Amino acid sequence: MKRCHLFKKQFPLSLEKGSMIKRLLGFLFLIIIILAAIVLVNTFIFTKEIPRGQALDLPSISDSAVRHMSEAVQIKTISYADSLPVDTSEYMKFRKFLERAYPLVHQKLPRQIFNQFSYLFTWEGKNKNLKPYVIMAHMDVVPVEEATANKWTVAPFSGAIKDSMIWGRGVVDDKGCVIPIFEAAEDLLRQNFQPERTIYLSFGHDEEISGSHGAKAIAEWFREQNIHPELVLDEGGEITVENFSELKRPIAAIAVAEKGYLSFQLSVEKTGGHSSMPEKETAIDILAKALVKLREKQMPFKMSEPMAALLKRVGPGLPFSERMALANQWLFMPLLKKEFEKGHITNSLFHTTIVPTVFNSGIKDNVIPTIATAIVNCRNLPGDSQADVIAFMKEQINDDRVNIIPEKINTDASPITSIDSAAFKKVEAISYQVMPDIVPVPFLLMGGTDSRHFDAVSNGVVKFAASIDAKGYHGIDERLPISDFKRMIFFYSLLMKESGDEIAQKVSAGVK
Ligand SMILES: [Zn+2]
Repeated sequence: MKRCHLFKKQFPLSLEKGSMIKRLLGFLFLIIIILAAIVLVNTFIFTKEIPRGQALDLPSISDSAVRHMSEAVQIKTISYADSLPVDTSEYMKFRKFLERAYPLVHQKLPRQIFNQFSYLFTWEGKNKNLKPYVIMAHMDVVPVEEATANKWTVAPFSGAIKDSMIWGRGVVDDKGCVIPIFEAAEDLLRQNFQPERTIYLSFGHDEEISGSHGAKAIAEWFREQNIHPELVLDEGGEITVENFSELKRPIAAIAVAEKGYLSFQLSVEKTGGHSSMPEKETAIDILAKALVKLREKQMPFKMSEPMAALLKRVGPGLPFSERMALANQWLFMPLLKKEFEKGHITNSLFHTTIVPTVFNSGIKDNVIPTIATAIVNCRNLPGDSQADVIAFMKEQINDDRVNIIPEKINTDASPITSIDSAAFKKVEAISYQVMPDIVPVPFLLMGGTDSRHFDAVSNGVVKFAASIDAKGYHGIDERLPISDFKRMIFFYSLLMKESGDEIAQKVSAGVK
């Protein structure tokens, strides 16, 4: 009886359990179906064709333009380091070259000189009610490392023309912008062209060492005059066909913000002594451990506004699996994050980076040094301030014996120029015209440019040059295809003529 009773008691229970599991499985199945449906619908909505603009034929350029580019490269306007003097004779030579090569620019556009070698030309517009444009570039170049000089295909300052390319230090960064701006302006002046709005042509001479005497001084002049340009266009992003190759269309990466630049001195002081009787820990040990800890963990992954906008634009053109992941970031973000963190370049687009670049300690092999110092360089994302970076480093190092001192020139990330701004839309519209099938996208620049000095006077700072996957800048065999040089002259010329409005209207509906 008892057993029977028990059995009876258990039987309905197990029946209930079975149906509960069944119901649970049914419920889970339903959830999976709903999730799959949402994922597919989102992917389907995301799958619309990326708009296409109408490219124009590149006009031909004169032989003198290529010659000018070659000549510009041969003048060694090198920025070494903040503390080192520049070769003023080379900068004077560059000024004389510009005056000779571009007589109309120098006759018709008043030139102001800032701190000896930076220039601002003013091209008066017809309509004083329109806010001006600033088109800028820098004339200085980085040195050629002695150890690499013989690895170049041509002599680094030869300005050689070979294989339909112009070669030499600075031909991309940034004389590859300086000369096309001058060529475009000179050509338009030859046709007696006057722009609608005032256009300032701004050329700094010390961008590679922070721009504090050039672009900073020029931007300061704008502030004093209370001039707020609609657009400030500098180098930065460019056209790429190599990245996003799956898209099978070239991308115009128009940078709307740049990461910050922070350097910190880390130091440890601990009594040293004779190396025959070392203590358990030395200054070098403590600092080395701190640096290892800084490399073991990154600051959190962040999807910045420009990168989110970029993915939104290119996503519809990618293969199904990638499209699905990008259309459903709420579900696939952990996977996307893992993918982005694989490569050091994509990783840097989504993280504030922290890396030691200098380590100093010790004077002799049998002396334990009292002081060890290191410099750590950080490129912080918009939204990660210097204070956030310091807090992260302190927490990560977790050792009060390590002092962290920020450098004076530290700057946080720039503000983000809106993709709805007239500045972005203008550059976007013109980019459609200089290359067939191009996909203009907003972009976050990892390096720094002179244009950050203009953030205080303009909401329209945009960084873009119409070269394609530029090669060798700051490295070996810096070179610029003549076809890129042509396109860059054309790009600046269209900008000076304020081209592209029609095209912008046509495609803007589809590229939000
Ligand atoms: Zn540059």
